[in-house]
Amino acid sequence: MDDRQFRQAMGKFATGVTVITTEIEGEEHGMTANAFMSVSLNPKLVVISIGERAQMLEKIKASKKFAVNILSEEQKEYSMLFAGQIKEKREINFGYLAGLPVLKGAIAQAACEVVNEHVEGDHTLFIGKVIDIKVEDGEPLMFFNGQYRSLVPEVNVVK
Ligand code: FAD
Ligand code: NAD
Repeated sequence: MDDRQFRQAMGKFATGVTVITTEIEGEEHGMTANAFMSVSLNPKLVVISIGERAQMLEKIKASKKFAVNILSEEQKEYSMLFAGQIKEKREINFGYLAGLPVLKGAIAQAACEVVNEHVEGDHTLFIGKVIDIKVEDGEPLMFFNGQYRSLVPEVNVVK
């Protein structure tokens, strides 16, 4: 099985899109991620998976905390920006939750402290204990088959 086949198959699993944010030495950093899962209710735990080549890896290892921002369907540009698909620099006016930078307008924000990490293959799984949460109304941005989608039928594919 080659990499393309694996990605093609995994791309059949429709997901939302998050931007993981953290701050280190006063500098905010964001990274688009769809490898996100709710893990436990008591205690409240989530998991994210960060690739070994991502700048975000060392930043979370150092800060020991991160926030998960679940993007709304209006935030496709943020997904592209924080995945490096938009090349020009943008000034982001971050909000703050429990001392962590977050993206205003995200339909949910969860501030987390790292309680465990596991290196698995070429990714590191970070288990985060959720210390604060904010929820807003809105429809989610979706990712399926390598493309952005919307749940709203009229729009179907976000332009
Ligand atoms: P960089 O490549 O340095 O940063 C990413 C981009 O964000 C750059 O363009 C940078 O300018 C911008 N940026 C960062 N911080 C700021 C800031 N403060 N102000 C303005 N701009 C800023 N990779 C994974 O490891 N795990 C996943 O689960 C995952 N899921 C993905 C899901 C989707 C839908 C997509 C499109 C990509 C996904 N990726 C995932 C890939 C990952 O988003 C990219 O490889 C990303 O570029 C890695 O970011 P980096 O930490 O190396 O940082
Ligand atoms: P794609 O078609 O590459 O992704 C489809 C699915 O394959 C993803 O949803 C994910 O489940 C899986 N996948 C892709 N790359 C992976 C990786 N390096 N490690 C583990 N699983 C991976 O989507 P695309 O639009 O071509 O993605 C844009 C870029 O973002 C690519 O470079 C891709 O590798 C990266 N990406 C990485 C991850 C990840 O690291 N977990 C997830 C999604 C996208």
